[in-house]
Amino acid sequence: MNLLNSTYNGIQWVHLLDSGKAGPTVGISACTHGWEHAWLRVINHLVDDFWIAQKLVCGKIFLILTNIQAYELSLQTSHPADARFVDENLNRCCTEENLLTWTSYEANRARELEPILANLEYHLDIHSTYSKSQAVWIITEKWKERMGAVMNVDVVFENLTQVQIGRPFIDITERHGGVWIWLEAWWEEDEAWFRIGVENSLRLLSDLKLLEDSSVDSNQYPIKENKKIFVYWSVVPKGKNFQPARNFNHGNIVQKNEVIGQDDVWTHVASEDSIIIMPSVPEKLRIILEKGQIEEFCFLGRIS
Ligand SMILES: [Zn+2]
Repeated sequence: MNLLNSTYNGIQWVHLLDSGKAGPTVGISACTHGWEHAWLRVINHLVDDFWIAQKLVCGKIFLILTNIQAYELSLQTSHPADARFVDENLNRCCTEENLLTWTSYEANRARELEPILANLEYHLDIHSTYSKSQAVWIITEKWKERMGAVMNVDVVFENLTQVQIGRPFIDITERHGGVWIWLEAWWEEDEAWFRIGVENSLRLLSDLKLLEDSSVDSNQYPIKENKKIFVYWSVVPKGKNFQPARNFNHGNIVQKNEVIGQDDVWTHVASEDSIIIMPSVPEKLRIILEKGQIEEFCFLGRIS
């Protein structure tokens, strides 16, 4: 299957697998950030090697390549951050208000996909990170109430979406009644993401009973820690020249009152002992701020 040639109702780069039988409607999307190609290989594996189309016993699966122009840009550029988005961050710009009024490429693409996203019961959006990270699953209250433990990851972040800027792409599904699943599947340049993406896609499809013979082999995929961390804050630059206080890595600990970074107008200080979550690569953040966009330098998790 070549997703890049697929269309659904005239919408480019959407492919529908339809069992023809009643059941859940699930969306799996990739390249919400253009450079994050991880999912393309995951979905090719699921379709071409694992044969999910042939194994689909009920329901529907939409496969969506989200940010077409940023993906195309990513094939031509030297630094990944150049191709994170074209006009604005698709994973921050999906507030209802933005989608009504903005004219950016990303807002237009989100509007074009909205009729599909609004009818999904579950939307899995797979990302990868720009530096070393973990298998990360970002959950909402709705997921906690309805689903519980389905995925297998190193860490589960609660409340992150309450402290991030704007609304992410998958919020469109959630506010129309569905449930979102946001997976950060490790660093793009480390092959770990492939296994994380494949395993967790199969876990979801298996839990929803969409596929025959899809149980996940626990020998091949050992159970991870699935440690829950409450995200209480995000460090958002207020000026263009943000400088981190040191070279932070994902999982580093900072003490109460420790300086995390500084920009033209603000010194960012930890208000309690905290875990640094998904710090931006300085080069990436610089490119984003220069484009006039705002994005978190990092999130802060509670140590409990
Ligand atoms: Zn991403």
